[in-house]
Amino acid sequence: MSFVQKLVCVCCGREYRDDELNYYCPICGYQTGILDVKYDYDAVEKVVNPKFDSKDRSMWRYLPLLPVRDATHIQHLQVGWTPLYSAPRLAVELGVAQCYIKDEGRNPTASFKDRASAVGVMKALEKKAERITCASTGNAASSLAGFAAAAGLPATIFVPKRAPQAKLAQLLVYGAQVFVVEGTYDEAWELCMEASEEFGWYNRNCAINPYLIEGKKTVSLELIEQILDEQGKLPDWVVVSVGDGCTVGGVWKGLWEMKRLGFISEVPKILGVQADGCKPFLTAWQDNKPLIPVAANTIADSIAVGHPRNFYKGMQAIHESQGSFVAVTDEEIGWAMRTLARATAVFGEPAGVAGIAGVRAAVQSGIINSAETVAVIITGNGLKDIQSAIQFTGAPKRIAPSITAVKEVLR
Ligand SMILES: *Cc1c(COP(=O)(O)O)cnc(C)c1O
Repeated sequence: MSFVQKLVCVCCGREYRDDELNYYCPICGYQTGILDVKYDYDAVEKVVNPKFDSKDRSMWRYLPLLPVRDATHIQHLQVGWTPLYSAPRLAVELGVAQCYIKDEGRNPTASFKDRASAVGVMKALEKKAERITCASTGNAASSLAGFAAAAGLPATIFVPKRAPQAKLAQLLVYGAQVFVVEGTYDEAWELCMEASEEFGWYNRNCAINPYLIEGKKTVSLELIEQILDEQGKLPDWVVVSVGDGCTVGGVWKGLWEMKRLGFISEVPKILGVQADGCKPFLTAWQDNKPLIPVAANTIADSIAVGHPRNFYKGMQAIHESQGSFVAVTDEEIGWAMRTLARATAVFGEPAGVAGIAGVRAAVQSGIINSAETVAVIITGNGLKDIQSAIQFTGAPKRIAPSITAVKEVLR
């Protein structure tokens, strides 16, 4: 049984029945007519409060808060319930009172995107789709390919030519049909939209498919539940990197729901972190202006999104939580990658660790103060892009196989 009440357009406020539409509001169109899934929270509250009574150690423990009509379509991969670490040495490095790390690289295809793909594939099966598609900087693609493989559902993927090799390897191993587009992510995205319409493929693009953010929000439900379980201090800030804006939108929705359901009394502030070479959210937020798409130039490929497709929900997350955007350079991302790995053994890809660099930048500029507690979501595993990692660490020393050679280096 689903607790979904309706779909509401974030642009014009029109309401639709659940499953009346597949994607966006037809009146506003896909650029602005993003839908939000609304639940009967009074009914949900009766089921989940005072605690989520589920033995399921995956994101599906939050079933009453997910748009599921028929649970038989769920693929039982271990998605979600990722580890949450307290990282005291990292907190010292960053200059904050306490720092939690949520390691999303531990998901089945090694990124946060699995929370969304799990819902996307479930919905595609519900809707009896014959093929599923998405455009992606890399992680949504490899994630969708993995979940589609698990479900035996054919997938067609569009990625920009700069997608890292490891992400391409995942796509090919999972057996997806792959198009490497000679262009940017933004161009791959438009092409995927066109193809989806032309051929009737089910579209997993997170910005236009209202159900996917519902998967993404589970990271916040979990984060709060895990901290409450440990009787830990709740964070003043939840920190995450921002590309299209769906992830940060999901983070906000999950936190908001935990407040609505009575688990927390206040929603933490959200710090949205962009790359200095691609910061359309930060620019619009600082100038209080509409979105102006930019050309992307950053090593953090997963957030190299010059034309964010979920501008509304991304902005809403920062405004409603009274949070902030910051931007970090590629060098700062390199520092964050090394510092996180050396303090916690968590190895994140560039966009995955951008949040760590963001905390440091926000402390230095006085946005976060040193008495505050932060929780940083590490959105993707470092093994997905080793080229960038080695660029930040330098190559190892090569020596002859003799103890003399070792001594020479040590001297
Ligand atoms: C997709 C992604 C993000 C950003 O998510 P958006 O929804 O595009 O804002 C951040 N980090 C990683 C590793 C990602 O794959």
